[in-house]
Amino acid sequence: MGFFDAPDLHGHEEVVFTHDPETGLKAIIAVHNTSLGPALGGCRVWNYESETDALRDVLRLSEGMTYKSAISGLNLGGGKAVIIGDVKEIGNEATFRAFGRLVDSLGGRYITAEDVNTTPRMMEWVHDETEYVVGLASELGGSGDPSPFTAYGVFVGMKAALKKVFGNESFENRKVALQGLGHVGCYLLEHLLKAGAEVVVTDIDEEKLTRVTKEHKNVTACGPDDIYQQEVDIFAPCALGAGINDETIPQLKTPIIAGAANNQLANYEKHGKILLEKNILYAPDFCINAGGVINVYGELEGYSEKRSYSRVNHIYDMLMEIFHLSEEQKIPTMSAANTIAEARIHNMGRLKQMHRSGSFHLKK
Ligand code: NAD
Repeated sequence: MGFFDAPDLHGHEEVVFTHDPETGLKAIIAVHNTSLGPALGGCRVWNYESETDALRDVLRLSEGMTYKSAISGLNLGGGKAVIIGDVKEIGNEATFRAFGRLVDSLGGRYITAEDVNTTPRMMEWVHDETEYVVGLASELGGSGDPSPFTAYGVFVGMKAALKKVFGNESFENRKVALQGLGHVGCYLLEHLLKAGAEVVVTDIDEEKLTRVTKEHKNVTACGPDDIYQQEVDIFAPCALGAGINDETIPQLKTPIIAGAANNQLANYEKHGKILLEKNILYAPDFCINAGGVINVYGELEGYSEKRSYSRVNHIYDMLMEIFHLSEEQKIPTMSAANTIAEARIHNMGRLKQMHRSGSFHLKK
């Protein structure tokens, strides 16, 4: 397969490959779309089985970022970077400064950030070579850990889903099944308990389960495979992707799926349709989990935590718009979300073009 035949190449604007034998850096940066602004997306380090796998990942993830930023109302495009290799071997200053130079060479068309297997320390090294990096530690004037914002966004999104399904957004007498007690899951749990929900949790890490059930009342634990069968008001996937699939959907006893994980549906078209048929309201992942990117976006304009939280609140309205469009057109919520994101990319992108060509005049 040649590069131009790659099945995940969907109108990407630019894909840059680099190999620096000196540091061992092997990286790919994909800029999917910059209609709304510079392409922002994290840098992932992964020991891919093949370069084709790495390319597929970076193409898919960068496209996903275009939609996430567009639906969130941010003036950002979608991009992503992958560094191929074992983080234990290449997670050092030399490699990340070489990566920083690559980012810098794109002149701001791509802005990088933390992702799987990268840390704030690595982003500091990147920052030594380029200003086009966000998600720095708060001591460096950055916005720090994005997880509390992601969790808050999911909580706000759950309220919208409750309102749609039950006519009110109260968590009193509501039960939530929470899958994954990681960074986001733990912050989300706090919000849910404070709001009066009962929560059943699971994680593959038994220590986390024991700790959480000891620390809180109103929390019970179940095994990782049992979480799907819980009779609840909301199922919240906050672990890995593809948890909603052919095997798990028939087990679900919930009217709502709303959680933080990326790519929750194993096949978004097929499983989106099945959920619609089963009358399970699905909050599209790339909308409900956008709190983190909304927060780092603030760094580009002078960071304010208050402003970030206020922007994250918009997730409620955006989900309502998605739910209404889905109902009106009888289409899965994922398709409704894609339609709204594409319309914004088109309309705002067009506005930018008009601006550039001088055919757009402000009224004096
Ligand atoms: P994390 O790695 O801190 O936590 C994931 C947790 O899920 C871990 O505790 C892990 O033990 C558990 N887990 C893994 N497989 C499991 C399984 N089969 N069953 C139950 N538990 C399992 O990750 P995180 O930062 O909390 O992110 C959670 C999800 O949300 C990920 O999919 C991530 O991509 C997505 N997300 C995170 C953010 C963010 O701000 N951190 C932003 C957007 C999306």
